[in-house]
Amino acid sequence: MSRKFSCSPKAIKELIHANLLPILTVSGVTGGAVLGLILRYSREEHWTKREVMYVGYIGELFLRALKALIIPLIVSSLVSAIGSLDLSLSKKIGLRAIAYYMTTTVLAVILGIILVVSIHPGKGSDEGIKKAGEARDVYTPDLLMDLLRNLFPPNLIQACFETHKTIIIQPKLKDLENDTLPPKAEWELGTEHTRALNIMGLVSFATLLGLALSTLGAKGKPLLDFFHSLSDASMVITSWLIWISPVGILFLVASMIIEMEDFSVMLGQLGLYFGTVILGIFIHGFLILPAIYTIFTRKLPFRFLANMSQAYITAFATASSSGTMPVTFQCLEEKNKIDPRVTRFVIPIGATINMDGTALYEAVAAIFIAQVRGIALTIGQVVAISITATAAAIGAAGIPQAGLVTMVMVLDVVGLPAEDMTLIIAVDWLLDRFRTMINVLGDSIGAGLVYELSKKELEQMSINANGDVERPSNEIAMDAVESSKM
Ligand code: ASP
Repeated sequence: MSRKFSCSPKAIKELIHANLLPILTVSGVTGGAVLGLILRYSREEHWTKREVMYVGYIGELFLRALKALIIPLIVSSLVSAIGSLDLSLSKKIGLRAIAYYMTTTVLAVILGIILVVSIHPGKGSDEGIKKAGEARDVYTPDLLMDLLRNLFPPNLIQACFETHKTIIIQPKLKDLENDTLPPKAEWELGTEHTRALNIMGLVSFATLLGLALSTLGAKGKPLLDFFHSLSDASMVITSWLIWISPVGILFLVASMIIEMEDFSVMLGQLGLYFGTVILGIFIHGFLILPAIYTIFTRKLPFRFLANMSQAYITAFATASSSGTMPVTFQCLEEKNKIDPRVTRFVIPIGATINMDGTALYEAVAAIFIAQVRGIALTIGQVVAISITATAAAIGAAGIPQAGLVTMVMVLDVVGLPAEDMTLIIAVDWLLDRFRTMINVLGDSIGAGLVYELSKKELEQMSINANGDVERPSNEIAMDAVESSKM
């Protein structure tokens, strides 16, 4: 039977009330775009960095508030989710998530390679491509070893604000006997700590702590309760922040538009590269991933995807999957009704290591640069690119333009200098926003899929040994969020 749509003022009011947040968010994006365009073209001269900062100030405050939630959310959600599952179920959920992450990342890389090889955006000349910025000297083995080093932080407090980085120091020309530089492997080694949250380290420690608590049983309960409570409280703060997100997003988008490079850059050779990445991430995000979801869950993905729109918009506005994480949780748990025992386990790990958009972009960008330089790649080199692009995406942090940094690794395997990264810098800030959206979408579909596949076991777990039915933790968490609404 077809449903009747009524246009009465009451029905319209109800419709608006039910969809108030998405309506406000979309208005935030469009309002931001309009404001940005008006300000950008309201005068001849360039906007200074300071002026752009003033316009984006409210957005910056919103972003800072979101970021403040990253540590409490990651740690508490992982510990409480893993700690409340039994070991065998954690193992199953963990393996399902990892299998999904690996498969989809590899699929994204393959798709990227097919597209960049067939579209061939780099026609063999770097004319018209503006170079900017400077690249850092890196040595690929150091980058890979730093990934593992960061997984084992020696000091947890330091991991909350610093990440370990190995640097290689270029010998001074005056110290050389002849004027040729030795190979990078022979350069002096140094250590640097960058001012960036070591998410990998926190994720690994929280996972271990959760596992330890789940084996401790009654003895671990007080600490587990503490993390449950911290995680619920962080979600309550998230639900407050989400209501101010349209305003934050408005100013973030406006400042982005004022700041961006000339549109003409997008139209030249870089335009074709830009288009190839966008086409790839859209095919991957809106065709391949939903198809995987449908095949495994036997459910249509449309409602699920639509319910996540707040998270995509936040990802676009912030260019950070970690920053978007609180919103991702909220959409998954409140709108898609995914059990927090799954989301809080799978999302923090996914936001850190599962980046399909980034993986696809890394592969496309490396091959594009090789094409521009007129280097014909062998099959072996293309395979090497796929493997390093996967590693580079896993290693990239969920922060703005992290993929650009790990890209050096991919360039290195085909013998391209790190400086060549500067060929694509002009459009990277915008590509970053789109790939972050797809990274978040990939994590969300992963959580949905793992939940559907683990549903029976989770239900079984909720029926405790005495046959009593425990309240699922998502109901308890949602009660906390509901009661916090003003
Ligand atoms: N900004 C991306 C993210 O946060 C990472 C990247 O591709 O640079 O997911």
